[in-house]
Amino acid sequence: MLSYQHAYHAGNFADVHKHLTLHAVADHLLRKKSAITFIDTHAGRGRYPLAAEETARLREYRQGVAPLWTRRAGLMEGGGVLAEWLAALAQAQPDAERLTHYPGSPWWLSRRLRAQDRLLLFELHPGEHDHLTDQRLSGEARRIHGDGLQGLLSRLPVPTPRLCVLVDPSYERKAEYAEVAETLLAAMRKARHAVVLVWYPLLPEGRHRALLEGLRDGGLRKVWRAELDHHAPADGKRGMHGSGMLVINPPWGLDERLGEAMARVVPLLGREANYRSGWWVGE
Ligand code: SAM
Repeated sequence: MLSYQHAYHAGNFADVHKHLTLHAVADHLLRKKSAITFIDTHAGRGRYPLAAEETARLREYRQGVAPLWTRRAGLMEGGGVLAEWLAALAQAQPDAERLTHYPGSPWWLSRRLRAQDRLLLFELHPGEHDHLTDQRLSGEARRIHGDGLQGLLSRLPVPTPRLCVLVDPSYERKAEYAEVAETLLAAMRKARHAVVLVWYPLLPEGRHRALLEGLRDGGLRKVWRAELDHHAPADGKRGMHGSGMLVINPPWGLDERLGEAMARVVPLLGREANYRSGWWVGE
């Protein structure tokens, strides 16, 4: 049974980490003319009003996107990935001066689709899929009610020369970490050049190790990895303390471009926040 709803967490530190990475990757890929298929295996609703009951309950965006928005004038002076991301975030607001909505991955992926590109958005939860269907998205974006991991495999190889995939599960079941690893291994056999982004939570139980071990055991080792620790895991305390991203076949220069942005973002997310990135070789 699916109970996770991203609206409770919209705009939190993990969303900032994930969507900045997504923006940096997509931006790089869109510099070349050849067509891209983007696949979002776990799309969610697409757009989250911050005043909605679910989002207002925890207000996680206060330790995520909100402090960046407040300081956006200064942050944008530095240019680069962060300035572009903040400018895009303003475009997602009905009133560009006020942060009232947080855009999800379907919005970040669809906003710059060109005529030659396509986007497939999978969402399994019927209610979340209905919300997604109601969103206005630009470009050729298909919303599919179904399992994103199976959906990904069934669509490979894609008809476009390039492929970019975001895998952002809710990891409600422990087995999902291993399932994601198996799916990625199968997908990379069918689409060796695909650029694939995978998000995972850092939890006190360290469950993401099953994902990394699955990839390592399957022979997929040279993967770029970045982890953002929001706070140190407290003894006996449950819940996510950090956010992890893997990028298979990362665009050239990603580590540097994103590193510059994250160096300015991380101090605003919390006193204990820290960020590290580099090649993961299966240790
Ligand atoms: N990617 C979204 C974003 O960045 O805005 C957030 C996605 S949220 C973390 C995970 C979503 O995956 C939830 O909406 C959940 O209903 C959906 N989901 C769970 N299992 C799924 C599956 N097997 N296939 C597709 N969607 C699934």
